Order: sequence, then C-alpha cells, then structure tokens
Amino acid sequence: IFAGMTLLFSAIGVLVSRWMSKRALQPVEIAYNLQKEFVSNASHELRTPLSVILSATEALGMESDKSNPFREKMLGTLKHEVKRMSGLITELLALAKSDSEQAAVKLRKEQFDIRPAAEQMVESFTNAIRAKGLSLKLDAPVPIEVVGDRDKLIQLMYILTDNAIKYTPSGGHVEIKLKKQNHKKHDDFLFSVSDTGIGISPEDQKKIFERFYRADKTRSRKEGGYGLGLSIAQSIAETHGGAIKVESTPDRGSVFSVAIPFEAETAQLGRAAEPSV
Ligand code: ADP
Repeated sequence: IFAGMTLLFSAIGVLVSRWMSKRALQPVEIAYNLQKEFVSNASHELRTPLSVILSATEALGMESDKSNPFREKMLGTLKHEVKRMSGLITELLALAKSDSEQAAVKLRKEQFDIRPAAEQMVESFTNAIRAKGLSLKLDAPVPIEVVGDRDKLIQLMYILTDNAIKYTPSGGHVEIKLKKQNHKKHDDFLFSVSDTGIGISPEDQKKIFERFYRADKTRSRKEGGYGLGLSIAQSIAETHGGAIKVESTPDRGSVFSVAIPFEAETAQLGRAAEPSV
C-alpha cells in the first residue's frame, strides 16, 4: 500500500509539474512567435525604402563630380552601407524564418586580408564618431590574412563596433584591435573592441547574447535596437568554431573579444598560390 501511495503521489507530482510548466511556457512562446513575426515583417518593410535609397544613390553617383571629393566619398560610403544593409536584412529574414539560428548561418569560407574591410568600416562610422565627439583607434597589422566567411566576419566587426559607439557617451574612446596568433596546428584571428562607455552589470553580461535581450532598459532604449546584434555576433563566431566573450565594468566600459580559429595550412596554401612578383 505504501509503495502504491508513493507511486501515485509521484505520478500526480509529474502531471502537476508538466501542467504548470506548460502553462508557464505559453506566454513565452506567444511572445517569441510575436517577435519572430515582427522581425520578419520589419525586414520585409525595410526592403522597399532601402531599394529606393539605393537607386537614388546610384543615380546621384552617375552624375559624377570629381571636383567635389567630399561628395564622391560620402556617396561611396552611402552606396557601400546601403548594399550591406540590404544583405543584413536578407539575413535577418532568414534568421526569423528559420527555427534554428545555426541553420541560417551557412559559411562561405575564403582566405582574405581583413584589414581593408576594417578600414572601410572605420570610414563608415566616421560621421557617427564625430557627431558623438568620440575618439577611435584602429590597431591592426598590414595585411592580416584570415580564413572565414568574409561577409559574416565583417558583420561581426560592425556589430561590436556599432555597439561600442552606441553605448559610449560623448568624449569617450573606442579601440578596435585585430591580430593573428599562430599556434602549431592552427592560427587564431583575434578581434576585440573596447570602449569607455556605460558598461554592463555582471547579471546582464550573462544574458546579453540572448536574442532580444537588452540590458538596463531605460538607458538602452534611448539607442534604437532590438537586442539581436550580439546573438547574431555569437552565432557567427560559433559557426566558425570560435567564441565571443565580454569583460565589463558598469560606468567604466566594456571589452568584447572574439577568437576565430582556422587551419594554418589553409592560409599557407593560399599564400603560396599567390603570384610572386
Ligand atoms: P542592441 O544593441 O540592438 O540592443 P545587442 O544584442 O547588440 O542589441 O546588445 C544587447 C544589449 O547589450 C544592448 O541592449 C546593451 O544593453 C548591451 N550592450 C551591448 N554592447 C554594449 C556595450 N559596448 N556597452 C554597454 N552595453 C552594451
């Protein structure tokens, strides 16, 4: 009888806890689906103005005015960023549609020098940096040959740099470091962005890589964003077999560091195949 009672009680316990967890999950699931739907709709909606901006920029570019180098430079930046944004939107759409984040990230690996992309990125952020009165330093060797998906690694750099600029009040400093570390069997591409910004509390540091999570709502809300950047950044680092981490002190600043490993031989092969001058 005693054994039977124990069995009965534990069965009831299991049923009750299942019922409770099911009920507790429902609002979370609803919110998650709503957010997915929102991202999908927003991506669709963004495409239309973006294609208008792109064709207008291209039309302006056709009337080239070599006597105005500033105009030419700004047009170049505009075109570059609009194209990049349309790529990002396509990706966001894929991310919202797919059930697994990893499935959306398909890598096209190649060997390339990432330094020019970092310079172009700094160029693109020049206006934002000036407008906020920040200083920025890019610390990278020339060249810095890495192996990985070019667009994705560049996107990863943009996400971290954009955040550093967004979450650093005027007068602050942002530093971007790119370097390569050689090991016996593989190389590591190391990328870090440090800022002297608002920082992130230890509790928030555990959650900021989750989709849609935004720390300290009141302060972050001032800066537009949906809490997607870092989850995409993490997914890019991890699909490359790498990792991303954060070190931060509230009101002092943050350092986001990424390590992406790649086969040293791949880079050697690529280098050997280059024509010697
Ligand atoms: P978003 O910036 O769009 O909100 P992210 O996923 O890129 O989304 O970042 C998630 C949250 O992490 C941000 O809302 C912000 O609270 C915090 N965060 C990210 N980068 C920094 C940074 N460099 N300094 C301070 N807080 C940051």
